[in-house]
Amino acid sequence: MSKLLELAGDPNATLHRVPVVLPVALDQSYDYLLGEEGPVEPGTFVLVPFGPQVRIGVVWDEPVGLQKPVALNKLKALAGRVDVPKLPIDSMRFAEWICKYTLSPLGMVVRMMMGARSAFEPEKVKFGVQIVPDAQLPARMTPTRQKAIEIAGDGLIRAKSELAKAAGCTTGVVDGLVQAGVLVDVAIPERTYPQPRPDHKTVEFSDDQEVAVHALRASIDSKAFSVTLLDGVTGSGKTEVYYEAVAAALEQGRQVLIMLPEIALTSQFMGRFEARFGCSPVEWHSALGSAERGRIWKAVGSGKARCVVGARSGLFLPYTDLGLVVIDEEHDGGFKQDDRVNYQARDMAVVRASLGKFPIVLASATPSIESHVNARTGRYRHVVLPGRFSGVELPEVSAIDMRNDPPEQGCWLSPKLVNAIKDTLEQERQSLLFLNRRGYAPLTLCRSCGHRIECPQCSAWLVEHRFRRRLNCHHCGFSLPLPEKCPKCGEQDSLVACGPGVERISEEVTERFPESRTVILSSDLIPGLTEMREIIAKIEAGEADIIIGTQIVAKGHHFPDLATVGIVDGDLGLVGNADPRAGERSFQLMHQVTGRAGRAMVRGRGFVQTHQADHPVMQAIVNGDRDAFVEYEIRQRQIGFLPPYGRLAGLVISARDKELAELFARDVVRHAPQSEKISVLGPAEAPLAVVRGRHRWRLLVKAPREIDMQSYLREWLSQIPAIKGDIRLNVDVDPYNFL
Ligand code: ADP
Ligand code: ZN
Repeated sequence: MSKLLELAGDPNATLHRVPVVLPVALDQSYDYLLGEEGPVEPGTFVLVPFGPQVRIGVVWDEPVGLQKPVALNKLKALAGRVDVPKLPIDSMRFAEWICKYTLSPLGMVVRMMMGARSAFEPEKVKFGVQIVPDAQLPARMTPTRQKAIEIAGDGLIRAKSELAKAAGCTTGVVDGLVQAGVLVDVAIPERTYPQPRPDHKTVEFSDDQEVAVHALRASIDSKAFSVTLLDGVTGSGKTEVYYEAVAAALEQGRQVLIMLPEIALTSQFMGRFEARFGCSPVEWHSALGSAERGRIWKAVGSGKARCVVGARSGLFLPYTDLGLVVIDEEHDGGFKQDDRVNYQARDMAVVRASLGKFPIVLASATPSIESHVNARTGRYRHVVLPGRFSGVELPEVSAIDMRNDPPEQGCWLSPKLVNAIKDTLEQERQSLLFLNRRGYAPLTLCRSCGHRIECPQCSAWLVEHRFRRRLNCHHCGFSLPLPEKCPKCGEQDSLVACGPGVERISEEVTERFPESRTVILSSDLIPGLTEMREIIAKIEAGEADIIIGTQIVAKGHHFPDLATVGIVDGDLGLVGNADPRAGERSFQLMHQVTGRAGRAMVRGRGFVQTHQADHPVMQAIVNGDRDAFVEYEIRQRQIGFLPPYGRLAGLVISARDKELAELFARDVVRHAPQSEKISVLGPAEAPLAVVRGRHRWRLLVKAPREIDMQSYLREWLSQIPAIKGDIRLNVDVDPYNFL
């Protein structure tokens, strides 16, 4: 009798079943039969037959979700194990928590946790070349051969392509040297991750810092869950302070994760880390190659990597012994993901810390309202650094009322701002102009027939990008060359650009200050993180006079020569489509951007161009009165039962067919369970009504704080009609995007 049949009659059959979760959009595990090789521990990655394929899944410790009982003799057997570190139990509990909170299928969270496909593939041994000591030089020497031999003379192992690049020759030349016996092929050793040393450098702290350091160290020493809000103006020395918490956790031999908004992962930050800990941290972000991601995933899972600095997805690495998470710029909207699994990484990190029973530190100069409220209610500890470490005061900010000081015709900078830049240039210091809008102009209009050029697939105008000479859609990526005549009426040269983007501001700056060196910092003009780091290093080194940037200038950079900051359009984003965080975001952005000025030696100046100088947010910015803003904003949230005083969930229903989407949305609303406390608003056509040809309808669910929103949604969604055709329903608990 075969082993399988033998098992089928076994009363202890569950001993031979293992539940496996696959990285697919399903909310259940599947049972597989244990093979001959004996028991598998939970968290083990295994190969399993799934439909016609063999896929990688992870062994769970309990069956998940509703499943039809399958007789043991119908089960398929595990097809093998994958030789990678296990998914830790904490990660499993964390994945379940995220699913419960976001209503995403467990498989999709597991997919995020599997982070790098290449981690699960056998690692290819890579070969490089190395010089053969005392080898005889080849008979035929050329300048390129000479150069390559010189470079290889240091004895290091290099990939052929790397040596060729360094010597300015082809890999053929390198091959020739191998044939001649001067170089030899050798395996490139596996990358090792240097260990950060907590005591590499000792820092003298100010009195305020000392208090903060003491509080953070105490939280690490207690080895228990706690949340500390580290709250201090830009330049107050928060980074220096939380490095001490990092050091304390490393001293305990535990792993550490520092999360930053993706664009703040600059070489500046890495340089500071290295100065403090003697080596670079392990970086984790989207710009890494797949092989590198795979290696890091394994190094974290095996405990070889001790300190990770990463973007939000760094939270899902398989830490074996995570002992501290730090979230810098905790207020940043970039921690919210709106794709597949809609999660807020800052909030999920707090959950992770609570599951793992370790402390977490949230640092910001402009904490989120949620964190302020948590600090006030005592749920979070509040550690404050009141002033800048340098002692230099925060910049003096003034509003430029555009009704009284309008720019000249066809220009965007008011005379006051222009004069401030002029002064700054004369003092040989830097100015920064901030406008959160990529491209040249947000709208292109026909002077002759009034036609506005829209995206054919989205309800959005196409944005002119003059450097590229194209019109682009910022929602779907659609793009076309800048037309010479109106696509509607055919009139030649009738198209005009309306409104400014950063490229247009740069044009005005170049016209006004032709001698000055200007730089545009905008994500679409910079191909990747490496290039971005180079540009930032140049600015830091004083190789630019005027910087024009989108929101990427707001994040964590330290430009010592920056004296003047101008916000080109302070009204942009001040009020947003039913977005309860519009005011907050606007305040944070303006505060952070103006806070870049005058960090090192002299007090800086900030100017905000606005048509709403009386708006409470603007007043708070100008008066440098963050507390006033926080009070005002907390009141607004309380009155409106908005987060964190109420709960929100957004539902977006979309389909290619407008009517189908609308009918389905109405049907969904009809099935909403009745509740006195919960209101369902909509359906309403989304502000961004069409994206990529899909018509979108929105519902907003509002509930008081004490309501279990997830249970309500789950009950509701279990009753809605089956999703037909190409209809999509996206549920976003605690949404940050209301478009
Ligand atoms: P934040 O993170 O609050 O913006 P940083 O930690 O970046 O502040 O500190 C601002 C500047 O002050 C940095 O250049 C930093 O090196 C310096 N600094 C902060 N604390 C100290 C300290 N204790 N000793 C020396 N320099 C410090
Ligand atoms: Zn589009």
